[in-house]
Amino acid sequence: MSDDLYDVLIIGGGPAGLTAGLYSSRAKLKTLLVERMILGGQVMTTTKVENYPGFPGGIDGPDLMIRFQEHCHEFGLENITGEVTALSDRGSEKLVTIDDRQVRARAVIITTGAEPSKLGIPGETELTGRGVSYCATCDGAFFRNVPVAIVGGGDTAAEEALFLTRFASKVYLVHRRDELRATKLLQERIFANDKVEPAWNSVVKEVIGDNTGVTKLSLYNLKEQTEREIEVAGMFVAIGVTPKAHFLADILDMDQDGYILTDSECRTSMPGVFAAGDVRKKILKQIATAVGDGAVAAIVAEKYLDELNLDQ
Ligand code: NAP
Repeated sequence: MSDDLYDVLIIGGGPAGLTAGLYSSRAKLKTLLVERMILGGQVMTTTKVENYPGFPGGIDGPDLMIRFQEHCHEFGLENITGEVTALSDRGSEKLVTIDDRQVRARAVIITTGAEPSKLGIPGETELTGRGVSYCATCDGAFFRNVPVAIVGGGDTAAEEALFLTRFASKVYLVHRRDELRATKLLQERIFANDKVEPAWNSVVKEVIGDNTGVTKLSLYNLKEQTEREIEVAGMFVAIGVTPKAHFLADILDMDQDGYILTDSECRTSMPGVFAAGDVRKKILKQIATAVGDGAVAAIVAEKYLDELNLDQ
């Protein structure tokens, strides 16, 4: 990382960030991408991506993201590991705090994505890493021949439930309604799998464990208003995601859930700052839409820089 002024600084290295990086570096803009952990974002924990065009038969999430990275590096994208904690507006320049240093950029694209939401119930935090997990792809293989539960009724819960059937003896699918939100194709696969037992209209009230890890879940049936316990060695939580934009809460307009508000061209409430991908409020959060956002944000940022040059 140089001390120079960057044209574009991208915060976050998932599909939206890498696409913005590709477009921006290909346009010969001096671009820096900052990622807190590893490049690839949430897709790195996805077993198979079946709905990203161009890959009939599907492609493993990490394999797809390695292709994104290689493609960016072909155009010379500079990327570093670091955590961005603050952003301030100096008009035609933005000051970005990365760990303990500050970097200047003329335009900033926020692609920080989202992280798994928590249930907020007793036992959840205490037993995280000892049976409670937010990533079946990462931790599922630790649960061989034992019963587990997955909480949620969306695409993630359905996909992860199916993945868990490869290892677990039984997978309880705990959902607060009696109908899944997941796409019909995934629902068909779920209902055809003998290892999956839905617990309809149910929520987890407490995760119970001992020094070996999770042992039971206390379930509450919202319809019948009854309680029961199920014996499981693991609880996977897949109830959606929370945007990672807390550090921007005081400076950018957001909705009540913390998603950054933008116009249709990814402009935020601060001129020169754009948001793309899952961190932005929008109707569909998929790799395909993150890629679209990343491209739009980079092109609109380029136009913004051109206008800035004319003004100076
Ligand atoms: P989601 O679609 O928002 O589903 C979250 C699920 O969790 C819903 O069934 C919801 O119940 C339930 N839920 C939410 N809060 C809860 C709480 N406090 N307690 C209990 N249950 C709760 O989230 P997602 O499944 O992670 O998917 C996110 C986005 O990624 C979606 O757009 C999805 O289509 C996409 N995605 C796509 C794929 C794919 O295409 N292959 C794979 C994964 C994700 P209700 O249904 O009652 O609201």
